[in-house]
Amino acid sequence: MAAIALNRLVRAKASFYFSPISSSSSIFRRSFSSETDPTRVPSSPIHEHKPLLPRRDLKDRNVQWIFLGSPGVGKGTYASRLSNLLGVPHIATGDLVREELSSSGPLSQQLKEIVNQGKLVSDEIIISLLSKRLEAGDAKGESGFILDGFPRTIRQAEILEGVTDIDLVVNLKLREDVLVEKCLGRRVCSECNKNFNVACINIEAKNGIPGVYMAPLLPPSGCASKLITRSDDTEEVIKERLRIYNDMCHPVEEFYSSRGKMLEFDLPGGIPESWPKLLHALNLDEQEERRVAAA
Ligand code: ADP
Repeated sequence: MAAIALNRLVRAKASFYFSPISSSSSIFRRSFSSETDPTRVPSSPIHEHKPLLPRRDLKDRNVQWIFLGSPGVGKGTYASRLSNLLGVPHIATGDLVREELSSSGPLSQQLKEIVNQGKLVSDEIIISLLSKRLEAGDAKGESGFILDGFPRTIRQAEILEGVTDIDLVVNLKLREDVLVEKCLGRRVCSECNKNFNVACINIEAKNGIPGVYMAPLLPPSGCASKLITRSDDTEEVIKERLRIYNDMCHPVEEFYSSRGKMLEFDLPGGIPESWPKLLHALNLDEQEERRVAAA
C-alpha cells in the first residue's frame, strides 16, 4: 500500500522534474536544469499533497519504522535484526545507492563521485530508487518496512509523511570518536553483502565519561576471504559524512521528535549489551524469547 502511494506521489511530483532514473543519462542532467525550464509547471508545496490511498490502522498492517543515526552507528545491524524478528523488509537507501553505482547504469559514475565525496545524493534520485524498491517489494507481497538511512533531509521526510504513516523512529546514538573507528573497521562481504567489523574498540573511562568496549564482529569462514572495504569508509570521507549528517539530519530528528514519534537510544556498547536493551526499549523482549525458543 505504502509503496503504491509513494510511487503515485513520486510520479505525480516528479514528472515535471525528471524521468525514471534508469532510462537515459540525459535525464539526470535534465533534473538539474529543470529549475530554469520555462515549460515547467509550478509544483505545489509538498505538505499540500493528500494521501493517495486510505491510511491503514496499525493493527491491519505491519510496522513502518525508521532507523536514524550517524554513519557507522549500526543502523544496518540493528534494523536487519529487527526486520528478521518482525518479518518486515529492511530497506537501506545506502544499499540501493551502492547497487545502482555498481551497475553499469547511466547514473553509476555520477553516484560514485557523490558517494566517494561523502555527499548526499539528490532527493529526487533517492526517492526514485526507494520507490522502485518498494514497488518491487509490493509485487512480491511485502508489507511494512524498516527504513535505514531514509529520510535524511526534511524534504524526504515531508514526502514520506505525505504518503504514509510512520509508527516509530529509532534514533541510535554513539560518541563521534567511536563512530570513526567503527567506520574504519567496517568490512562488507562482497558476496552476501553482510556487514562485519574488524575493529576492537576499547576506550577507557575518562573525566567522568564512561568508557566504551565493542568487540569485533568477525565474519564466518565463508565470508572471510571475500571482505571488502567500502570506498567511502576512509577517514577523510567518514569525517565529511559525519559533518553532513550533523548539518542535514538533525532537522529530521526534530521533525519526528515534534511529532512524538522518536525513540532516542544511546548504544551502551557492542551488540551483546545493546541488543537486549534495544528490544526492551521497543517492548519486544518476549517476541525475541519466543523466536529463540522456536529456533
Ligand atoms: P552511512 O550511514 O554509513 O553514511 P549509507 O550506507 O546509509 O552510509 O549511505 C551511503 C551513501 O549513500 C551516503 O553517504 C549518501 O551518499 C547516499 N545516501 C544514502 N541514503 C541517502 C538519503 N536518504 N539521501 C541522500 N543520500 C543518501
